[in-house]
Amino acid sequence: MSQPVPPEDRTPKCAQCHKKPVSAQYRPFCSKRCADVDLAKWLNEGYAIPGSAAEDADETPPPAGSGEMSADD
Ligand SMILES: [Zn+2]
Repeated sequence: MSQPVPPEDRTPKCAQCHKKPVSAQYRPFCSKRCADVDLAKWLNEGYAIPGSAAEDADETPPPAGSGEMSADD
């Protein structure tokens, strides 16, 4: 199944607004505006992510072999 794709559809659209064709200068965006919007979005998402610091479950077992009980009498 191969459908002929019109040249217009082959032009990559802006990754931000998906409306305007990508500019060679600001690809994959159409303009600096869209590039800034995407960048801000990424930054916001980065800051929005709560510090999910993995709690280190450090279970140190007590030292074994403290003494053998030998009831031999
Ligand atoms: Zn755009």
